[in-house]
Amino acid sequence: MEEQESSQIKNAKTNWSDWKWQMRNRISSVSEIAQSLNIDSKKIAEMNLVEDRFRTAITPYYFSLANLQDPNDPILKQALPDIRELEMADFGEADPLSEEDDMPVDGMTHRYDDRGLLVVTNACAMLCRHCTRKRIWNSTDAAVSSESVDKMIAYIARTPQIRDVIVSGGDPFTLPTTRLADILRKLREIPHVEIIRIGTRTPVTLPMRITKDLCTTLDKYGPIWVNTQFNHPNEITEESAAAVDRLIRHGVCVNNQSVLLKGINDDPEIVKTLCRKLVRIKVRPYYLFQCDQVEGVEHFRTRISKGVEIMESLRGHTTGFSIPTFVIDGPEGTGKIPVMPNYLISQSEQMSVLRNYEGIIVGYREAGERITSMNNRTSGGVASILAGKRSCLVPTETKRMIRRAQHEAGAGM
Ligand SMILES: *Cc1c(COP(=O)(O)O)cnc(C)c1O
Ligand code: SF4
Repeated sequence: MEEQESSQIKNAKTNWSDWKWQMRNRISSVSEIAQSLNIDSKKIAEMNLVEDRFRTAITPYYFSLANLQDPNDPILKQALPDIRELEMADFGEADPLSEEDDMPVDGMTHRYDDRGLLVVTNACAMLCRHCTRKRIWNSTDAAVSSESVDKMIAYIARTPQIRDVIVSGGDPFTLPTTRLADILRKLREIPHVEIIRIGTRTPVTLPMRITKDLCTTLDKYGPIWVNTQFNHPNEITEESAAAVDRLIRHGVCVNNQSVLLKGINDDPEIVKTLCRKLVRIKVRPYYLFQCDQVEGVEHFRTRISKGVEIMESLRGHTTGFSIPTFVIDGPEGTGKIPVMPNYLISQSEQMSVLRNYEGIIVGYREAGERITSMNNRTSGGVASILAGKRSCLVPTETKRMIRRAQHEAGAGM
């Protein structure tokens, strides 16, 4: 009896760490989990309605990260349908980035001259409610046929300026490893392809997918860069850290592309914590994306100002390489546009006036200019810095100025 029990537990445990088991046992409707959620039946019925248009898929692993008592839990918010996906659908577009307008062959977006993006499957481990490519979800998971992928690869082969290929989807790591290896091998055979990137959320939603076998394959066809998507500190777990570690130990560089999401991470402290935890597990924060104007995603969108506010709280306040670039993927296929607070305050030919993260406004002498030569102007304020009358305007209460004063007082004694 006891023996049987322990083997059952062992079985459950081996299943849990088997990515195929996780895929087979995904939650495909909120009805399956309604009992364990702290959500009333009316809301569940609304969610069912949403599922008719935008279906549900959640791995048992990702679901296990949620605090089920909290309807505002950041894991649940990314995973569970919301009636606003239908109510506000007319705000968004199916393809707000006009990806399909820049497709020389089906499934391949050639927007930037030296980079190409291939969609190789519509399947994902989890379907994120905020997904930019909701338009390709359809009613079932479907890998793109080998013939179609071969056509994309043939386009890359005859387009020598493409030196960076992004394998995307959907999630390419939902493909069998042999199929993925086939795609990577064909890309590597093209001499002008310098780097291959893979966009995958599996380190976050299905970390057991990062198997030894997969890592060996990636190592073989490297250099490979993996771009993943952690959006909240709660997603950084022992399992996800271990998955990232396996990738890194096989020569894969791991970067993170977060999406700024209302009610999930639209808070400077949450993003700062996320970025710090990411570098702790050796993931480089790369982009923070303004949420796109996608059909069924409007309720996640923040104002652009929220992103600017978050960037203000990062630069100077934490490790430089843990700071992502805040970008807006512009409409009409204009691509990624970086946005940040203004640090350049004013300029003359002789002088640029900058401000730093502490709010100090400081003059920066331009090459070959002598500051003393401009001293006969009379204006005050920032103009007085331009005129070379002051070097800077310093707020009195910065932490650094207080430290300096303490140090100087100490040294004088
Ligand atoms: C984001 C994106 C890329 C890659 O852009 P990087 O700034 O190099 O990361 C390439 N092609 C398309 C269509 C993209 O959306
Ligand atoms: S993993 Fe990426 S492509 Fe897949 S649903 Fe989430 S955001 Fe969309």
